[in-house]
Amino acid sequence: MVLADLGKSLTKAISSLSTSLTIDEKVLDECLKEICKALLQADVNVKQVSGLRNGIKKRVNIEQLAAGLNKQKVIEKAVFDELCDMLDSGVDPKKVELKKGKDKTSVVMFVGLQGSGKTTTCTKYAYYHKKKGWKPCLVCADTFRAGAFDQLKQNSTKAQIPFYGSYTESDPAVIAQQGVQRFREEGRDLIIVDTSGRHKQEAALFEEMRQVAAAVQPDLVIFVMDGSIGQAAFDQAKAFKDSVEVGAVIITKMDGHAKGGGALSAVSATHSPIIFLGTGEHMDQFESFETKRFVQRLLG
Ligand code: GDP
Repeated sequence: MVLADLGKSLTKAISSLSTSLTIDEKVLDECLKEICKALLQADVNVKQVSGLRNGIKKRVNIEQLAAGLNKQKVIEKAVFDELCDMLDSGVDPKKVELKKGKDKTSVVMFVGLQGSGKTTTCTKYAYYHKKKGWKPCLVCADTFRAGAFDQLKQNSTKAQIPFYGSYTESDPAVIAQQGVQRFREEGRDLIIVDTSGRHKQEAALFEEMRQVAAAVQPDLVIFVMDGSIGQAAFDQAKAFKDSVEVGAVIITKMDGHAKGGGALSAVSATHSPIIFLGTGEHMDQFESFETKRFVQRLLG
């Protein structure tokens, strides 16, 4: 179930309350059943769904609801609050927000598995900040995947963002360091370093990530993950977090994928703040993520 469909199903379940003459335990249970069904279809973990269900029931005690209180509103608010709790990592994304300052350069390093959408996301992130008045640039420290530099070069050229890379240097830490130094000297205020991925989480990848991080001393490490893996996101996010100091997460391919809900809730459960979602292959198909705003939109 894609996120738009999840939103529709949730709204439908909640609006069923307004068509009932009276709202009692049975009506609430029926509504909760539909909500849970929708979340499970969006691949949210069974335990999380059951926790959410219990949470809503706890917040809404039909018997104790004072007469005069709008029961539908109380239930809607409980669903909203529980969904926010489920998707909130518990870490304030503002904490990892980049601070713009005179003579300050922020270095952001991107990590993730091959095919997760890392290179695409680096450009999207650069383009997003360019539109906000930053002077971003891109460094390709991916020496593992053939064609990675050409891809970054092509994307950067399209977005008119300066880039750095090498066809001959094979040590990613060396390229990263050279690129960062070059762009610092040029007075760029946001240097984005794209690193290599692998097909799976393996020791060589983590070692390389640590070497690049040591070479460029990033202000922020962003882990990019493919949202279509659904609940498996939990283990993957945890493995990266345990290996390098991941400050924030971007989940890609949230457009049209059935498992997006699972990925979102699974990553949140690892206490990693999600800062953006990738919603398409194009440069501007990129949305900043803020839990309350996201849930508000989901519920229409
Ligand atoms: P990398 O190996 O992690 O650097 O991955 P790439 O950036 O090369 O992306 C792999 C594929 O995923 C490419 O075909 C991208 O166009 C595609 N992709 C990346 N982000 C998104 C997204 O948000 N939505 C969709 N539909 N495709 C994406």
